[in-house]
Amino acid sequence: MEQEKLIELDKKHFIHPTSSIQQQQKDGAKMIVEKGDGIYLTDRNDNVYIDAMSSLWNVNVGHGREELAEAAAEQMKKLAFSSTFSTFSHEPAILLAEKISSLAPEGLNAVFFTSGGSESNDTAIKLARHYWRVQDKPERRKIIGINRAYHGVAAASTSATGIPEFWNMAGKMMTDIYHADNPYGIGKDKALSSLRSVIETEGPETVAAFIAEPIQGAGGVLVPPENYLQEVRNLCDEYGILYIADEVITGFGRTGKWFGVENYGVTPDIISFAKGVTSGYIQLGGVIVSDQIHDVLKEKSAGTLFHGYTYSGHPTATAVGLKNIEIMENEGLLENAQKMGEVMLKGFKKLKEELDIVGDVRAVGLLGAVELVEDPATNKRFASDLQVAPKVIEALHQRGVICRAVTYEGTDIICFCPPLIINEQQIETMIERLHDAIKEVRKELS
Ligand code: PLP
Repeated sequence: MEQEKLIELDKKHFIHPTSSIQQQQKDGAKMIVEKGDGIYLTDRNDNVYIDAMSSLWNVNVGHGREELAEAAAEQMKKLAFSSTFSTFSHEPAILLAEKISSLAPEGLNAVFFTSGGSESNDTAIKLARHYWRVQDKPERRKIIGINRAYHGVAAASTSATGIPEFWNMAGKMMTDIYHADNPYGIGKDKALSSLRSVIETEGPETVAAFIAEPIQGAGGVLVPPENYLQEVRNLCDEYGILYIADEVITGFGRTGKWFGVENYGVTPDIISFAKGVTSGYIQLGGVIVSDQIHDVLKEKSAGTLFHGYTYSGHPTATAVGLKNIEIMENEGLLENAQKMGEVMLKGFKKLKEELDIVGDVRAVGLLGAVELVEDPATNKRFASDLQVAPKVIEALHQRGVICRAVTYEGTDIICFCPPLIINEQQIETMIERLHDAIKEVRKELS
């Protein structure tokens, strides 16, 4: 179909997620993507872009993997769908649950499947409450998250999200969810004392769980200060609170480890995952729970667990998950993420030397960010009406790089999350284009 006709139909019939409806009506779809190959996306006019975000932080093994299409086709031909309710089971879900348990930190060995990250966090929160209820502690129902966290858009996950913009649409969806300060900008000690204060104010005996991403992704790739997560773990232990790590972005190789928490030497009680488990080729998510939680549930969760999605443990999705992990292992993609992550960070640091509006730069594996500030010496931010980061994203788009800007709380952050298959030369091209894009916007500002 012709591009213009598609744009017209898009405006008329397609309500896009996390998009401006008014802007869509005014400008039409930003881009109509036609195909993907490796780290590249191509639009219908044959313009080729580096997908520097792995689309939505998820296409870890890169685009156009025939092995994954074949794994899906094979499974679909054999058994496309079958329920896992009422203890019906099938091989791909069993094998993937076992595989994920073998990759997870020690002591987390049981998996509940969902269709995505929001469902995973809702599941984690409900399981945490359930864990306390079956132990006759229903008063332990409060959840504590941190500011700038993103946990998704289902009821509990919207509420746990620490970006108020996400509560504007329909209000906070769930009660008994509170937020402490995150360490970004204020450091570890203040963040920890904020967390302690929220726990104390709410009453530790009423708190079910703490939830946070090991590295806050959508909040702007906020890397935690040294020892922050260990001390969070200690605080949770001190008060007997469960610790949920939202690994929806950081899971499955993104940071050069199977799970982001491994970078910080902490073991959570529950891990939620999605995205990278299938590299986005098909919808899948889930939570992994500790043996301790699993043992309590085995002993005390009587009757039916009234929680399950039609697509929990979808045969085709789990078959693709297995193949995706096999690809990561066979191609050494975790090692590549570590090595290329260093190359990317080196490139960011060089940019900081060359351009006087580059502030903090950071990366853990292939998850990184470049902050833009008016004065790097004092970290003074630009006025938000200047829209510095969105302008850089646009300049990058024109140079064939798809990236993401984060502007919450007046920040100007450019996020990077390229496929784990990226090579050195491709990173250099990405950074050269970033250099030119920042330079162009810098010129406009002066
Ligand atoms: N948690 C984190 C850390 C995420 O980044 C996201 C999505 O970006 C989610 C949860 C929600 O996942 P989904 O969009 O698959 O529901």
